[in-house]
Amino acid sequence: MARRKLVYEGKAKILYEGPEPGTFVQYFKDDATAFNAEKKAVIDGKGVLNNRLSEFFMNGLGSLGVPTHFIKRLNMREQLIRQCEIIPLEVIVRNQAAGSMAKRLGMEEGAALPRPIVEFSFKDDKLGDPLVPEEYIVAFGWASQQDLDDMVSIALRVNDFLSGVMYGVGIKLIDFKIEIGRVWENDFMRLIVADEISPDSCRLWDIESGRKLDKDVFRQDLGDLADAYTEVAKRLGVMPSNVTHNPTKPTLIN
Ligand code: C5P
Repeated sequence: MARRKLVYEGKAKILYEGPEPGTFVQYFKDDATAFNAEKKAVIDGKGVLNNRLSEFFMNGLGSLGVPTHFIKRLNMREQLIRQCEIIPLEVIVRNQAAGSMAKRLGMEEGAALPRPIVEFSFKDDKLGDPLVPEEYIVAFGWASQQDLDDMVSIALRVNDFLSGVMYGVGIKLIDFKIEIGRVWENDFMRLIVADEISPDSCRLWDIESGRKLDKDVFRQDLGDLADAYTEVAKRLGVMPSNVTHNPTKPTLIN
């Protein structure tokens, strides 16, 4: 393999310089972390599944006219993406209470919300990605008011798309996180969906059984994480349903 320049290594992914200016190669690792990396494990096959699932979701968004960083999948673990300037915010959309919202407000997991709620966390591992009000975001210059309005509108479009796709395969989208970046085309800046969309960054519950099919399986020790992600991939047709699943070695179609 040709030597490539490492640009950034995160908890679950590595970015390398891409073959053309303005591109990166995004590599999906098998590492799983939770609680700000206090809990760690290597889950065989997770990176392969997330690469494939993120491709599926980003392609779907692109075909609906929601711009994303995704260009093409290169192999089992890598995809070619557009370089962008990541806005240092996690954009979270919630359809039902769970996770940090349920804890903060003393709500029951799964409690209904009056409408989808969009919230922002400041991306800073040392601070534990604190929830921040829009007022802070504009005052500290992390994003303009116009960016914020556009981010909310992108987040809600992603929510509509993901909720619909997941509902179609018997899964409820409880919440998810996306990251958004800026790209410049001539003198115009626009926002694109970046990072990844996968069961690492969503809460997904089976509609019939309530079974969790997302990273909470790892956070809460509920079983085999790759098995849960494989179930999502199979239902979405990303993996053929007749594959006999070996929990440590997911088999994917190309
Ligand atoms: O923990 P919390 O309830 O705030 O998470 C909301 C959603 O955002 C969940 O789907 C979770 O997986 C995702 N998330 C993430 N990365 C983070 C924090 C949350 O993908 N650093």
